[in-house]
Amino acid sequence: MEKIRMTTPLVELDGDEMTRILWEKIKEDLIKPYVDLKTEYYDLGLEMREKTKDQVTVDAANAIGKFGVGVKCATITPNAQRVEEYKLTKMWKSPNGTLRAILDGTVFRTPIVVNNIHSVVRNWVKPITIARHAYGDIYKATEYRVPEEGRAELIFTNKNGEVTFRETIYDFECAGVLQGAYNKDSSIYSFAHACFQYALDLKQDLWFSAKDTISKQYDHRFKDIFAELYENEYQVQFEAIGIHYKYMLIDSAVAGLMQCPGGILWACKNYDGDVMSDMVSSAFGSLAMMTSVLVSPDGKYEYEAAHGTVQDHYYKHLKGERTSTNPIATIFAWTGALHKRGEMDDLHELCAFADKLEEACLSTVEDGIMTGDIAPLCDTPVEAVYTDDFMSAVRIRLDALMR
Ligand code: NAP
Ligand code: MG
Repeated sequence: MEKIRMTTPLVELDGDEMTRILWEKIKEDLIKPYVDLKTEYYDLGLEMREKTKDQVTVDAANAIGKFGVGVKCATITPNAQRVEEYKLTKMWKSPNGTLRAILDGTVFRTPIVVNNIHSVVRNWVKPITIARHAYGDIYKATEYRVPEEGRAELIFTNKNGEVTFRETIYDFECAGVLQGAYNKDSSIYSFAHACFQYALDLKQDLWFSAKDTISKQYDHRFKDIFAELYENEYQVQFEAIGIHYKYMLIDSAVAGLMQCPGGILWACKNYDGDVMSDMVSSAFGSLAMMTSVLVSPDGKYEYEAAHGTVQDHYYKHLKGERTSTNPIATIFAWTGALHKRGEMDDLHELCAFADKLEEACLSTVEDGIMTGDIAPLCDTPVEAVYTDDFMSAVRIRLDALMR
């Protein structure tokens, strides 16, 4: 069989521990037999980040900016214990944080849905994607523990040193707490652009929620920016493919979500996204069945699994034990990236291959062959299989689909 051709390379970001082991197997056993894989390779494994003083992460981000599509393996975010373990000269920053900052991107997380594992919310039969605006608000706030009676004020001084706004927040008659949060128009515009673009990609309705009835300046600014972009730039494209944008108060969005069948993209402010993404992912079952995409406002994409490097499985692997690590989210990172590359380069065969590989994974699970993390969630009791056996079962189904 002739291999499927690629024209532009995918930016490949290798990673750490168990996911690095999976990464190689996925490429060798499930992709390279069918695709003449072209990648621009960056090793984001912790050793290489140490060796290059983290320059490799910056270079990888810039390569995604240049080529438009990247695929990333999970990586270790160093902490004190990792500094010791890997003899690091510095506690290097989270690679995901660096990529997000350079690409100015928004992260979208989507569960992978199979028909024999049900969400605990019975009516959620289609995936729900959450977009979190990962900038500002309480995550960058200044806080003060008010120790005594006194006045708290909100003051704005312009760059000429003139006070252009001054208002009393509260006249404290006793001790209390105080918080100053901010956000920036530029960041909100980027977030909104990424959300509209990703809704067009998913061909799903977009909701944005906030509490503008209470927060008449702050949340209202978010609402206005979404409304402005929708009217001026996206409404025509949305209507052309039959999807809708709506603004909702956060409480009615929560109520609406519980009643809906899923199949929507929900854009959340920073804190709401932090909380709601954990709720949605736990309702759908397993972190190992969750994909994650970083989308920049100018339409660059970086695909990855939502989970980490699965450290405890890696230590077992090093001792020579077989593990039952779920490769699905990492495989879907590859299929997402290959599909996007295919769309951008007009390579229908590459898109079709990505679809078939996904189908092979889903049908393997739906045939009752699955790893230990999801076996207990299955409708009918099944024996968990080892990673290798799971991947062989996927390969058999993929072969059949490709024939
Ligand atoms: P983790 O790697 O996501 O694993 C947490 C637990 O979830 C595992 O111990 C395992 O549970 C289960 N799990 C996760 N993925 C699985 C899979 N594919 N198959 C089967 N079970 C799976 O999180 P962590 O242990 O907190 O973090 C490990 C390292 O990953 C850390 O160094 C962290 O910095 C990094 N991390 C990276 C990213 C990223 O690159 N995007 C994200 C998160 C964490 P059992 O032990 O019960 O089997
Ligand atoms: Mg959270």
